[in-house]
Amino acid sequence: MTYQRKKRLTTTQYVDGLLKGDKAILSRAITLAESKLDEDNQLAEDILENIMPYTGKSIRIGITGVPGVGKSTFIEIMGKHITESGFKLAVLAIDPTSQLSKGSIMGDKTRMEELSRDPRAYIRPSPTGDSLGGVSTKTRESMLLCEAAGYDVIFIETVGVGQSETAVKEMVDFFLLLLLAGAGDELQGIKKGIMELADALIITKADGSNKKEALLAKAMFKNTLHYFPQNPNGWLPKVITCSALFHDGIEEIWQMIMAFQSAMQKTGYLKENRSNQDIDWMWSTLRELLQKDFNQDPRITEELVKLSGQIKKHKIPPIAAAKKLFEIYQSKPNNQ
Ligand code: GDP
Repeated sequence: MTYQRKKRLTTTQYVDGLLKGDKAILSRAITLAESKLDEDNQLAEDILENIMPYTGKSIRIGITGVPGVGKSTFIEIMGKHITESGFKLAVLAIDPTSQLSKGSIMGDKTRMEELSRDPRAYIRPSPTGDSLGGVSTKTRESMLLCEAAGYDVIFIETVGVGQSETAVKEMVDFFLLLLLAGAGDELQGIKKGIMELADALIITKADGSNKKEALLAKAMFKNTLHYFPQNPNGWLPKVITCSALFHDGIEEIWQMIMAFQSAMQKTGYLKENRSNQDIDWMWSTLRELLQKDFNQDPRITEELVKLSGQIKKHKIPPIAAAKKLFEIYQSKPNNQ
């Protein structure tokens, strides 16, 4: 059986569907943004240009933590709390496809079962595939598409083990790090750098026999946070214990996020941060475009092999080799 690709709609059809909050159209628009085909990407860009005035109204929240920390359970319970409060929630789950097994780290099990049936919620897993670089561009586009479709809260979920956290931090307003009590930092694979990104540390599974340990961990993490550099927005990261199973701490976390949002709106930081994020997005796109163009030049490829050989034999300093390659690139007829 051959796979029949769905026919592309027109830009107007996508835009109208999005603005009506049509989930099927939203999914198809995200697929265009994630596609490896240039025509699809171009269409996604056209759609984005049209929906820009309808974006930017959500609270953008990053959620990370190692597998097993309780992310999907937390998102399910927090998500229901948010939709029951009358908001629409979109969850974009960045699933790093395992390079070894080609399987997914987040698992094939049905995650967030109740939330996925909730008409006010939209859940979209996005495999990162081979490149982590793609995470930021595609997820940013998906986030904007969700905003145009009327979602008030966006969760961007990552497995807290890699570089994708930094990319996510650069596109959200608030960053939550989920931690387990009792497991050492190394055991959790949490790097100090990831902890520094967090606006709040959530100690999960604080129930039953685990509760005492969770409270001890809270005191310990609070202490650790004192040694971290101060946030430019003046926000002091919070440490909160939570049991998604018993719905404990859920309301407290939601209130904290709302308080953050309104404080940052008042100071103007929210707007300023988003503008800076957009400028960074432009730069990173520009870097990608330049790199691609550079890599595709056959004269560069040829010279690169030659110069790499010379570097290995210490016949040319790396800086001189780089400058030589750049000169060849600049002399490209279509660059003049
Ligand atoms: P993820 O891999 O980070 O998405 O973690 P899951 O949400 O799948 O949770 C991993 C395991 O921890 C599951 O067996 C959950 O039932 C359990 N779990 C999640 N949240 C809680 C909680 O609040 N309390 C307790 N006791 N167990 C929990």
